[in-house]
Amino acid sequence: VTSSARPSSGIAFGIDIGGTKVLGVALDDGGQIVAEARVPTPTERPNGHEVGADVAEAVAAVVALLDDEVHAPNAPVGVGAPGMLDRNGVLRYAPNLPVAAGIDWRRLIGRVVPGRTVLIENDANFAALAEHRFGAGRGADHLVVVTLGTGIGGGIVIDGKILTGAYGFAGEIGHQVVDPSGPRCPCGRRGCWERYASGGGLGRLAREAALAGTLGTVVHLAGGDPEAVKGEHVTRAAVTGDAGALEVMEQLGWWVALGLTNLSAMVDPERIVLGGGLVQAGELLLAPTRRAYADLVEGGGSRPEIQIVAAQMGERAGAIGAAAAARDGILG
Ligand SMILES: [Zn+2]
Repeated sequence: VTSSARPSSGIAFGIDIGGTKVLGVALDDGGQIVAEARVPTPTERPNGHEVGADVAEAVAAVVALLDDEVHAPNAPVGVGAPGMLDRNGVLRYAPNLPVAAGIDWRRLIGRVVPGRTVLIENDANFAALAEHRFGAGRGADHLVVVTLGTGIGGGIVIDGKILTGAYGFAGEIGHQVVDPSGPRCPCGRRGCWERYASGGGLGRLAREAALAGTLGTVVHLAGGDPEAVKGEHVTRAAVTGDAGALEVMEQLGWWVALGLTNLSAMVDPERIVLGGGLVQAGELLLAPTRRAYADLVEGGGSRPEIQIVAAQMGERAGAIGAAAAARDGILG
């Protein structure tokens, strides 16, 4: 990197605290990535150690690695973290990682990254900002960005701005209840959307079909055991045109669309961007989702067609959005 000796202006750092890695990028004022760094996310030590302190150290390590490459000691730092973060950077609630609740990210990270402006926000909001600025959401000022992975993350853009809500908790779209008598969710209720329209949800739909005997190829891929069927076995069989697997993808698309129509009823987006691991299935998921959406959305024949498209920013979305927000001093 030729710029290593030269102080850089207009650079911002963005960091995404993920389940397995802490990923950072340095973004220049044209939105280009000029450096990247990653370290494994530390697992929490059980006792005698402040929860979150090790992760904050990992964030500091990524900042130092980026600074080695671009030398931007004044670069503001945006940090995206999972869960419900309030406006002071305190993690108020994390259904999938209860031990993390109460972490004061602003204090922990401010302590190990001194002398910089630090902006902390929910990771999905940053990913939505990245898609809106640079990716599949460009040009859409009314936009919903949904990440379909192990769970569901979401960010909502209204009038060109990320919706953060009164307390910072807007966009928790995965925990909209779509079936009050559905399976239990770690949040304490039943039938949340992310129990259906996620990797785990796909696996459950597939196991139900497998036990009903309609998924011969898929069960074969899972080693012959219907209980061992996972989402990836379905997508692998669907790619080959297997009818049973395609039927499960159709069901998954219906559940995805159901939540999307609820969101459309609330925010009236012009475009919906779908990202996350499930969307690697591409049209195998997008096409049934579009069909079911057109069928389920209120007044479907009387409103303009809404675009449902795949995300473009990939695994760096959260980090890129964090850098863009830190540079512009937005969100938070
Ligand atoms: Zn829930």
